[in-house]
Amino acid sequence: MGNYSRYFSHTELYHPDDVPPPVAQTELRFLARGVLDPLREANGGPLESTSGYRGVEHNRRVGGASDSQHLYGTADDVRDQTERHSGLELFLMAMRLHPMRVHLPSGNERIVVIGGCGLYYNEDELGKFIHVDSRPRVNGCITTWYFDGSRYVDLPGYVQEILHREGIAFC
Ligand SMILES: [Zn+2]
Repeated sequence: MGNYSRYFSHTELYHPDDVPPPVAQTELRFLARGVLDPLREANGGPLESTSGYRGVEHNRRVGGASDSQHLYGTADDVRDQTERHSGLELFLMAMRLHPMRVHLPSGNERIVVIGGCGLYYNEDELGKFIHVDSRPRVNGCITTWYFDGSRYVDLPGYVQEILHREGIAFC
């Protein structure tokens, strides 16, 4: 249970030494309620947030992209804490999320969609994880990528086929 959403608290989404500015805090709240909570429900068990908001220094240290969504509070990297689902299964759950109207206690309201989703297959100490973010979709498409353990490439063909079959627009 969390103070940001039903399932997530701020301690999971940023480090106390790297507190987001108010605008990014608002984005994190929309992300948590509109993307992370429904993904957690689809997963049927807790998600571990491995990297949420990152300030500029933090982002540089971990080698994040210079315009990373993590800088804006619109992104989180998560894995299935129960380890019942693979990264690919979690990725597909995220890609299937529906747009969601979110009301914040502050009165802010918005329809939140998943706009970016990355699949990571490297076997590091964090295991397999995915990136989700709430950037605006481009022509209705979810921006996707695959990290194969050493570099960023297009999604594997069989994953693209699943998305095509389900009518999920991605780029
Ligand atoms: Zn990420």
